[in-house]
Amino acid sequence: MVDTGGIIPEDKEFIPSEIFRQARVAFDEAAAIVMVVDGRTELAAPDLELARLLKKTGKPLLLAVNKIDSDRQEALTGDFHRLGLKNIFPLSAEHGHGIDDLLDELLAVLPPEEKSTTGDTEEERAGVSAAEVVKSEGKVTTTEPTTDNQGRTTDVPTASDEQLSAEVKIAIIGHPNVGKSTLLNQLTGTSRAIVSPTPGTTRDAVDEIVERNGKRFRFIDTAGIRRKGKTRLMAEKLSVVMSRKHLEDADIALLVIDATEGVSSLDATIAGYAHESGRSLIILVNKWDLITTGKNRAISQARAARIQDSKRPQDQKLYVERLRDSLKFLSYAPVLFISAATGKNVDKIFPLVEEVAAERRKRIGTGEMNRFVKTVDFERASVPMSQRVRILYMTQSNVAPPTFILFTDRAVKLHFSYQRFLENQIRHAFGFVGTPIWIKNRARE
Ligand code: GDP
Repeated sequence: MVDTGGIIPEDKEFIPSEIFRQARVAFDEAAAIVMVVDGRTELAAPDLELARLLKKTGKPLLLAVNKIDSDRQEALTGDFHRLGLKNIFPLSAEHGHGIDDLLDELLAVLPPEEKSTTGDTEEERAGVSAAEVVKSEGKVTTTEPTTDNQGRTTDVPTASDEQLSAEVKIAIIGHPNVGKSTLLNQLTGTSRAIVSPTPGTTRDAVDEIVERNGKRFRFIDTAGIRRKGKTRLMAEKLSVVMSRKHLEDADIALLVIDATEGVSSLDATIAGYAHESGRSLIILVNKWDLITTGKNRAISQARAARIQDSKRPQDQKLYVERLRDSLKFLSYAPVLFISAATGKNVDKIFPLVEEVAAERRKRIGTGEMNRFVKTVDFERASVPMSQRVRILYMTQSNVAPPTFILFTDRAVKLHFSYQRFLENQIRHAFGFVGTPIWIKNRARE
């Protein structure tokens, strides 16, 4: 569920086409759209206009008429037929009435569950990534139809795989005011930046490409990063939607945290998307200058206390410990303390991005992998007896993110403790800094 709702609620110049444009990134990803109206107010012109625009998306469209708390009020929904939508659901979001019907209908219109994009085979994965590359490359790479060995026509990029993987695609994510735009200016300002329009969804999406030491770094949708919401709430909602969108095209996410605030729940949500989608991640603790100069006291003493030690405010080791505690699932992400405003440590970002990009694409041979498996004492994983499996062998089936297939004696879902234990062991032996690791298991035939 992506909530784009009420993006400009109190704006007098309430323009549906503007909401539509802002929320567009979410619509493009959506399999179905639920439009919500207030059942206790009369329909207004913007509602009609929004319904008209939403219909044009061609996606299954459901109308939720909210705040209908009794049967008597249900009669009111009649007016809402004027929107020209067939699927109308009177409901009460507060009391939960009518939600079941809406959900049933949603399930009915959704496409059957998509095959996992983390396909097991190299071919599946290659197919997915080739398509992504073409999409984000836009004008740089042209595609030519070719024929595969079964006579089907497929689109493949003409640029070689090497060229494509040489470019690192970077999303800068984080909640409003953490310093994303300031950082972007530092990163692109000091080097030669090429501005390239991104074809596709938002009209004003622009990527900036920085070339350094023969390597290309593409910062995704820099216009989106610089765009500011008009209200705090709108900016926050937008930052979540945009982060998700940017992550889709990225190899690596730079998660920017405001040092004086610590990790907010919004940061954790955004970081969660990066992790779940298999993007690599670097955590940048920004505005460290405010900590070292002690200026943050004046700004936000209460907020700062959340993550900082009052006795040793400048202790980075302690800061990292607490940061890791708030973002437990990101134990693999390197942390860098920077000041986007002064430029301090910003030059360390590019080498770190390069390292993380290389780790993301690292491949361990099956021979080496199995020598490793033999050294692992699986008895040490605290797994209940009934859930234990015999690990026969393991192979790395993919990169970006590194994906491992574990062949086991029985077809059971791998217990969480095995996953975690094995992941730790893999990292201990092979590194894979900055990237999530996916582990799947299969019963040996
Ligand atoms: P965005 O919303 O994440 O793009 O944040 P901005 O880049 O617009 O920054 C928000 C505010 O924080 C601005 O007033 C910046 O000048 C300020 N800021 C950004 N980075 C730093 C930093 O490293 N140190 C200090 N002191 N201020 C910063």
